[in-house]
Amino acid sequence: MKQETYVAGCRATGKLHVGNYLGLVKDLVKTQEIENIERFYFIADQHAITTPFVPKELSDNAMSLTATYIALGIDPSKTVFFLQNQVLEHSWLAWVFNCITPLAELERMTQYKEKSSEHKENINAGLLTYPTLMAADILLYKPSKIPIGEDQIQHVELSRIVARKFNNKFGKTFPEPRPYALKPLRIMSLKHPEKKMSKTGDEPLYLDDEPKAIHEKIKKAVTATDGSGQSTGAENLLYLLSQFGTSEHVAQFATAKKDKSIKYSELKTILAEDISNYFAEFREKKKELLAHPETLAQILGDGAQKARKVASETLSEVKEKIGLL
Ligand code: AMP
Repeated sequence: MKQETYVAGCRATGKLHVGNYLGLVKDLVKTQEIENIERFYFIADQHAITTPFVPKELSDNAMSLTATYIALGIDPSKTVFFLQNQVLEHSWLAWVFNCITPLAELERMTQYKEKSSEHKENINAGLLTYPTLMAADILLYKPSKIPIGEDQIQHVELSRIVARKFNNKFGKTFPEPRPYALKPLRIMSLKHPEKKMSKTGDEPLYLDDEPKAIHEKIKKAVTATDGSGQSTGAENLLYLLSQFGTSEHVAQFATAKKDKSIKYSELKTILAEDISNYFAEFREKKKELLAHPETLAQILGDGAQKARKVASETLSEVKEKIGLL
């Protein structure tokens, strides 16, 4: 008998970078080792259409992300893994939530403020109501915990508010899920270490990058002067080494930092090599998966079917409670 349910989604925009990996995906893969947990992890392709998009890129990207997650270790036999748009109950429940969520709660969301100032030419209603779809994504599966990065905590809080409002109005239906504490982590941009590495930022280090691109990007990283370890850029590279480096290299640079003999050009070459090696198997596996799109489609189809089983039960309960025949 499963004791807990985890739900997590990742927006289907852009390619994943090392920040996404260390701040989210690595932990999602690790949750698969915990027993007695039912996991629903999905690619949020409907969320991806709130900002400007090209249809062909949207579908290619969903396939690429599916291959990425599986190549990184999401195992469809342990995790119900699916595309949000293939489980219609998500948008259905979102409509119900739209009708009980005060506008003011949506207008105060940081992501809405950021995205609407970033896309001034396209401030659509979807950008504003994104969190009610997200609340539906989450609450359909009545989860206990939501594994997320710190930037998404406000969205889980909104889901708790929506769950409480629904329960108060129509009777206890949804749990109030808690964020699953992922360690607060900010991988910084290589070229602008004062900013977070992001999909839209300057040259993120993508998981798909081939060794040549990894070397070129890391070579251009901003650090401190040799001998000193004190700069955000340098700390960022040392942190990446601690995650992707061999234990020998980690020890070597910890000593060099301590006795102030650190050479950043050497750190960059070694770090680039270690990151290239760390993701070598992933790159091969992903290419193999993408060569068989029909297998990926089958995995997504099976995942959606399993998700729908649970989602449709919740939706029937909701319809009954709110009096829809
Ligand atoms: P995004 O698709 O860019 O919204 O990111 C998805 C998730 O990846 C976020 O919710 C974070 O958990 C994680 N993430 C993204 N960028 C970083 C970063 N620079 N450092 C750490 N975690 C990150």
